[in-house]
Amino acid sequence: MAERDGDGWVDCQCGARHWGRFGAAGVVLLDPQSKSILMQLRAEWTHGGRVWGIPGGARDSHETPIESALREMSEELSIHPDLVEVVHDNMWADHADWSYHTVIALASREIEFQVNEEAELAEWVEFAKVSELDLHPGFASNWSDILNAIEDVLAKY
Ligand SMILES: [Zn+2]
Repeated sequence: MAERDGDGWVDCQCGARHWGRFGAAGVVLLDPQSKSILMQLRAEWTHGGRVWGIPGGARDSHETPIESALREMSEELSIHPDLVEVVHDNMWADHADWSYHTVIALASREIEFQVNEEAELAEWVEFAKVSELDLHPGFASNWSDILNAIEDVLAKY
């Protein structure tokens, strides 16, 4: 198994401190039928506290954003990467010192998942209701870009 070398904080030019020495990545699991995505409520003890976000985390130096995002999904939700289909992988928030890549993958709402200790629960949320949740600030700042990308993806299905 390749070395996990991505864990660590970056003090960014934007004034924030971000997790992931080589940036971070996460995955939006999208069910086109129900127009929902799989969100997780992060555990109280995690950085940023009890807020909603998507599975994701620090990238290792040898990983592509897709590899990192799917590894985090498999660690945090016990979903095997073969069970989802990546359909969008060129979206990222670039902070110069750090970046966050958001990958979109198709998944069925029927897929089985199990949260790990980093989350209290995970559930499917309709796009229209996502902004009503108490969101992780990083996810909240990317949400309009993500929603645009979701609409592009849905136009093809
Ligand atoms: Zn920043």
